[in-house]
Amino acid sequence: MQAFFCETIPDTGGILDANDSRHCISVLRKREGDHITLLDGKGSLAIAKITQAHARKCHFEIERVEKRETRDTRLHIAIAPTKSIDRFEFFLEKATEIGVEEITPLLCRYSERKIIKQERLHRILVAALKQSERLWLPKLNPLTSLLDFLKQKQEPANQVLAYVPEDNFLLRNFDSKVKNWLALVGPEGGFSEEEVLSAKAAGYIPTSLGNYRLRTETAGIVLASQVAQLSELI
Ligand code: SAH
Repeated sequence: MQAFFCETIPDTGGILDANDSRHCISVLRKREGDHITLLDGKGSLAIAKITQAHARKCHFEIERVEKRETRDTRLHIAIAPTKSIDRFEFFLEKATEIGVEEITPLLCRYSERKIIKQERLHRILVAALKQSERLWLPKLNPLTSLLDFLKQKQEPANQVLAYVPEDNFLLRNFDSKVKNWLALVGPEGGFSEEEVLSAKAAGYIPTSLGNYRLRTETAGIVLASQVAQLSELI
């Protein structure tokens, strides 16, 4: 069933915005009595029935709110946006599908991209949420310098610095009972030595995702899927 994003799911009924109404009625050809799914990105999914199939103001009535899940495992990835924004957008889409909870775009010493368009990236996340029918929209933070990020107070977590260390510490070597994960992924140019030292001083453990050098966005996706396997990301 086609899903629509609705920041607050109304108790009884409501109207889709002009864009979604057009998509629902003119593109998907939904008619009065048909059902649609509404997602709020905050853990709820509602099944609604179309009561007025209007192409600019599609009215619906809530039939039931199906799920309200809490997250068992939480993964926050702080990652340097790539020079080509397409690659970063690909990462955002996959991270949403896999179930990453929070994403902080990082500004590092060797970052090649220093500007992002928050609104556009938010739209990518919403599209991936609707496509995958996931219940949680990842929280997208503003671009933050790595050193500022390290100063922020975070909940206790497995702290991963995606890096190829000599002693090959792996994600599965972390304590699987810890359900919070906090991970840093560097830019195309890698982390600077000073950044690695600062991250270590802040409690991050250099961790390998394999013996070969991955692109930034691949490293982010591999990391998310490995965490998802170790402790299910819902
Ligand atoms: N030119 C850089 C490589 C950067 S790859 C260098 O030689 O250091 C971009 C980022 O992806 C890295 O900063 C790291 O965070 C992550 N990454 C890539 N491959 C990895 C691997 N095998 N294990 C852990 N992290 C990796």
